[in-house]
Amino acid sequence: MVIYIFGHKNPDTDSVVSAIVYSNFINSNGVKSTAVCLNNINNETKFVLDSLNIPAPKVISKLKDGEKIIMMDHNEAGQSIENLDKLEIEEIIDHHKFNFKSNAPINIRAEKIGSTCSIVFKILKEKNYNLSKKEAKLLISGIISDTLFFRSPTSTEEDKQIVEKLNSIAGIKNLEEYSLEMFHAKSNVEHLGAEDLIKMDYKEYEFHNKKYGIGVIETTSPKSILKRKKEIIDAIEKLKEKEKLEGVLLSVIDILNEHNSTIVAGEHEAEILRAAFGGKEIEHNLYSLGPVISRKKQIIPKLEEHFKA
Ligand code: MN
Ligand code: MN
Repeated sequence: MVIYIFGHKNPDTDSVVSAIVYSNFINSNGVKSTAVCLNNINNETKFVLDSLNIPAPKVISKLKDGEKIIMMDHNEAGQSIENLDKLEIEEIIDHHKFNFKSNAPINIRAEKIGSTCSIVFKILKEKNYNLSKKEAKLLISGIISDTLFFRSPTSTEEDKQIVEKLNSIAGIKNLEEYSLEMFHAKSNVEHLGAEDLIKMDYKEYEFHNKKYGIGVIETTSPKSILKRKKEIIDAIEKLKEKEKLEGVLLSVIDILNEHNSTIVAGEHEAEILRAAFGGKEIEHNLYSLGPVISRKKQIIPKLEEHFKA
């Protein structure tokens, strides 16, 4: 039997590369595993994998009932595989809030740290696993991506130390330059239709038993996204209808200037943003959230606070 290892839907670099490296580790213990993805990888992840000549993991949407899985970089059912409740979860490695119920014992490793790749590094170190040069570069890439090269408030001192240790193996000459190459690759989204753009880094949350979609687009070129605002708003309206969503927010994050411009499709979303983040005017369907760049640490907690009140 093979253990399937995968990150969340609409995978980011952290969720993909952490699964690849963790699968190598599991296999080194004589247990068969394989890294898979729940959707196609984004251009940043493709850049990372291409630079190492590593093929993208196979995309799957469901598995046979009873298959064994390891969940990386997520724990919420809404962000996971279709038939999660029919699968056998062996293990969860994650750095997000937990909204998780299980009927069976599970190994869970969760830490308050900048990326799942940082946790994978710590586990492998504890197990005396010798990382290859390629694996070290994969883990560095996941950490850079999730922490926006240590700009994000989710980033910790430990993430920095881990990247230093990893780079003594990977030997990347200029990490800052490498991070910019990754971010430019991620910003290359002209080929995407509006819905794929919204879904590129997108998660669903439930507030008051209603579904909301919260997307972020991390980019070095916010202008190229914002000029498509009208097309994006039309796609948001369609998405809300199609997937029975109460609201959708799409934050365009200017990585280099650490600034968030959120696209506000309708009056419902506008009300939520005003209530959660303060009564600012929303101009031309755009709300400036200033330096709020982390969905996990800054956007979602504010929304939860608002919906709790
Ligand atoms: Mn992730
Ligand atoms: Mn992550």
